[in-house]
Amino acid sequence: MNYLRKELYELIKSDESIFDFIQESSLDGLWYWDLENMEEEWMNPKFWTTLGYDPTKMPHKASAWQDIIFPEDLALAVENIQKHLADPSFPYHQEVRYRHKNGSTVWIRCRGLAIRDKSGKPTRVLGAHTDITQLKRKEQLLLETNRAARVGAWELDLENNTVFWSEITKEIHEVSPGFQPDLATGINFYKEGKSRETITNCIDAAIAEGTSFDVELQIITAKKKELWVRAIGQSEFRAGACQRVYGVFQDIENKKQAETKLQESEEQFRQTFEQAVVGMTLVDKKGTWIKVNDSFCKLVGYSRAELLKSGYKNLVHPDDLKQSNEELTQFAKGEVEVYLKEKRYIHKDGHILYFIIGVSKVVDAHGRIQQFVAQYSDVTERKLAEQKLFQSELQFRETFENAIIGLGLVNKVGEWTTVNNSFCKLVGYNRVELKGLTFRDLTHPEDLDKTVVQLNELATGKRNIFFQETRFIHKSGKTIWLVIGVSKVLDGNGKVLHYVAQYSDVTERKEAEEKARKYSILEAKSKEMEQFAYITSHDLREPLTTLKGYLSLLLEEFSADMSEDAKDILQFSIEGANRMDELIHGLLGYSRLSQVKTLETVDCNKIIRDVLADLSVSIAKNDVTFDIMPLPIIQGYPLEVKLLFQNLISNAIKFRKKEQNPIIKISHQVTSSGWQFQLADNGIGIEDSENERIFHIFQRLNKQDYEGTGIGLANCKKIVELHNGEIWVESELGKGSTFYFSILTRD
Ligand code: ADP
Repeated sequence: MNYLRKELYELIKSDESIFDFIQESSLDGLWYWDLENMEEEWMNPKFWTTLGYDPTKMPHKASAWQDIIFPEDLALAVENIQKHLADPSFPYHQEVRYRHKNGSTVWIRCRGLAIRDKSGKPTRVLGAHTDITQLKRKEQLLLETNRAARVGAWELDLENNTVFWSEITKEIHEVSPGFQPDLATGINFYKEGKSRETITNCIDAAIAEGTSFDVELQIITAKKKELWVRAIGQSEFRAGACQRVYGVFQDIENKKQAETKLQESEEQFRQTFEQAVVGMTLVDKKGTWIKVNDSFCKLVGYSRAELLKSGYKNLVHPDDLKQSNEELTQFAKGEVEVYLKEKRYIHKDGHILYFIIGVSKVVDAHGRIQQFVAQYSDVTERKLAEQKLFQSELQFRETFENAIIGLGLVNKVGEWTTVNNSFCKLVGYNRVELKGLTFRDLTHPEDLDKTVVQLNELATGKRNIFFQETRFIHKSGKTIWLVIGVSKVLDGNGKVLHYVAQYSDVTERKEAEEKARKYSILEAKSKEMEQFAYITSHDLREPLTTLKGYLSLLLEEFSADMSEDAKDILQFSIEGANRMDELIHGLLGYSRLSQVKTLETVDCNKIIRDVLADLSVSIAKNDVTFDIMPLPIIQGYPLEVKLLFQNLISNAIKFRKKEQNPIIKISHQVTSSGWQFQLADNGIGIEDSENERIFHIFQRLNKQDYEGTGIGLANCKKIVELHNGEIWVESELGKGSTFYFSILTRD
């Protein structure tokens, strides 16, 4: 024996304080139990201080500790001590729990040794306590951590051919805490196929070559649940032979599920991205395209490689680039939440594309931006259609505004919602005055019903459009004639939105028609009159001739027997009858003028010569001077033309000024459609107001001073009109008159 050991043993025997030191400093309690008197037991002070009690107040009785040990542990202790008492080779060695005075649990490792008498009968038991509470707490903590992480331990002891599974390893396998695995059952938990093959190979290799492993495999638990686990193993070799293989076993089902989910969602994203009908790009934080899909390539006409090389800046319309960059920066900084914009891009072939671009952020678990996903919807067609529509609306507005005919949009209650300038001019109201007025206010009352019926038919779909002549009342109160065309504009459901009305002014035409109608009535009446005049004058001539004959006979045969007065009366009667004869003659001539004749070539110079010859007596008597330029040869009616010149020349002589000899000038001009003649005199002239009247039959101005019938100029007018011409006079009272007439019979 070592001399120091021997010395220490001797010292302990001789000096009590040495033993006291040992037990106080190296143990947490010492007890010594009397088996022959089981109630008696000595406990050292540390025994009680460890459990929180004052040693001076504690009795040296076995019941003292039996009261504070956990009852289930007491049963275990009793069982163990009996085994040890019966068999010294069975160690009294256990972990038990005591209730500390403050209520907490104190874990005590308790070792005991039976002291036996010479016959081997145990008489005393010596026991020692170690406080393992801290250790136990750490163990518990580790267990809980492992449970939370679902990490267990395992060991394959090749020396003893046993398998150890930790509590958590058992929990993962869903077996009871008392389950005792062996190598074969352990391996059989792995899912048949790849998992089982892998673990078998791993274990084999670990045993044979010491290869460690770390694999993710699937097991089927005792409750038939499929689980992903991670098995880590390594081996321990002694003298070239594998002693044990041990390692960690972890339930990674959640992680695997998360991984699978991630993979699935990544795959989903990839497929969505690739197969999306809209264009999509994946952009990194610097704005560089890292991915573009097929649809986007098609939209912009570039290949993927071209796009990834060039980037978006070359594609954005130059006018939009600056703003786009600013907006994207704002969005990336989080100053704006949403990026949804309409932008112009340039297609590879140069044409403009209109995109609605939506950008979303891809963030990591901490909310930090990783990438951007941009989506491009092509709205070019819609945009172009919109532009076209705008253009055509513009065109329509311009056409509408500048149309020569009146145009108006009329709503369902008949108000004008929009009108153009022409319409305002037509009805005399401006746009402000028209506000609130309906077509009923302006339509002539007699035409209103007709319009309402037509409009109803339009509204109910009996017709799509209507045209009609309608009278409107102009602002001035005058009636105007309009041709109105109305069509309807329908909404998407076929309901009338409003009406489009066009208004053409036909007042002039209508008035002309009216004039013509009245004229034709007048003409018929005047024809009738002429007929009547002809018949009457014809029939009057015979009795007048008889009357004239008898009056002349009376004067010739019986004047010798008559007083002077009677002769005068007779003379007046004859003159009256002669005037009447002249009148009837003239009237007859006038009536005859209307009869249909044939055109002949007429030499106006010859006509004038004949007239002057016929009037030679009067010409000579009045000492008339003529200034006649050569006249044309015309197409006309010779007798009538002669009568025309004769009337005008004889009037020029008749209405001469008393103190002045007549001078008569006759001339003509060739016009585009015939000839115009002038016959000027230096006679008494005509008042302006009478210029028209003198051409009407029986109208005479100077009845007292000049004889006449008032038929001459009416005849002239009729003759000129027979030749499709016109006759008029320009005159100054006291200075003379010029008669103009035109002959339009030249073909
Ligand atoms: P009449 O000569 O028989 O009176 P007309 O029909 O020839 O009838 O003429 C109508 C009227 O026109 C005349 O009464 C006269 O007052 C006026 N008149 C016609 N010719 C002239 C003339 N050259 N100068 C002035 N007055 C004229």
